Amino acid sequence: MNEKLLKNIRQVEPYTPGEQPQTKVIKLNTNENPYPPAPGVRSALASMSIDKLRLYPDPTADALVSALAECYDLKKENLFVGVGSDDVLAMCFLTFFNSEKPIFFPDITYSFYDVWANLYRIPFECQKVDENFRIRKEDYYKENGGVIFPNPNAPTAVYEELDFVEDIISHNRDVIVIVDEAYVDFAGKSAMELIDKYDNLIVVQTFSKSRSMAGMRIGYAISNPTLIKYLNDAKYSFNSYTMNQTSLALGVEAIKDKEYFEETVHKIVETREWAKEELHKLGFEFPDSKANFIFATHPDFDAKELFEALKKEGIYVRFWGSRRIEQYLRITIGTRKEMKALFTFLRTYMNKGE
Ligand code: PMP
Repeated sequence: MNEKLLKNIRQVEPYTPGEQPQTKVIKLNTNENPYPPAPGVRSALASMSIDKLRLYPDPTADALVSALAECYDLKKENLFVGVGSDDVLAMCFLTFFNSEKPIFFPDITYSFYDVWANLYRIPFECQKVDENFRIRKEDYYKENGGVIFPNPNAPTAVYEELDFVEDIISHNRDVIVIVDEAYVDFAGKSAMELIDKYDNLIVVQTFSKSRSMAGMRIGYAISNPTLIKYLNDAKYSFNSYTMNQTSLALGVEAIKDKEYFEETVHKIVETREWAKEELHKLGFEFPDSKANFIFATHPDFDAKELFEALKKEGIYVRFWGSRRIEQYLRITIGTRKEMKALFTFLRTYMNKGE
């Protein structure tokens, strides 16, 4: 292709999602929930009218927005929904990061942030997490064009308490601060309780992890009505019908069942705490995890070799091999049975035996 023509094309380096093998494996590589969605989701799916698919979905996603508002005791005006939190976050980047100054996010974090920044030509500057993978909040006191970080952070699983999050928000009153809470249900308090106190705060959550609905693609933002309106204006300038009929109907059922949600989150947290002990016994090291995954390294075993050996065995975990995290694997918390299979393999691999 000629140079002039190429110059007119938006060329981007895309995000690389985790592998989605279509064969049966022990899948601990993309932080999905190992348990099925709430029982009401199954019945709603069974009773869905095929005729509905003929029609466009409700562009306001009112049923889902109302169910979320009820669940979190918010107003509908506090909520924006999208096709997974990736869609919501992409819309937030487009809407809120419009400064000429760089936006800030940690150097070790969700690897989609720099992709969106490049896509939208938003300048950015990564702030180094410390040697224990903790965000240094003082780094975010400098002038910037906006801030985004996940809490718990990914892929490190490190969670910061609310006063820490609030400190960053309060030092950035002139820009938007996005707290990406994809994993907060496994951790602790959400920053959503601060939305009335700080008009620069957006909290983003998802149905993909704690609500077992990664395949349905549902995410949402929580903020004050003014920022939610800006988000909706951007969405309606992009695609009015983002949420399909099925996601809307099933999403309502998933959010309604608090008991099932609490039960599955509890099971995952229990398995996580047990998995931490098992990993320690095997000599792994990792920052304390408050998410549904553990970011682990072993002083005696190469992460890439271990990743490949696990894959050969049909056990998928995530490996990046990027700077500062070359020797780390991210292991999603599966069922007890899946984790037991992982540990059995690791014991053999490490030649430790029982
Ligand atoms: N934020 C973080 C930190 C994540 O790890 C993920 C999952 N890849 C997402 C957002 C996006 O999740 P989803 O689009 O499935 O809601």
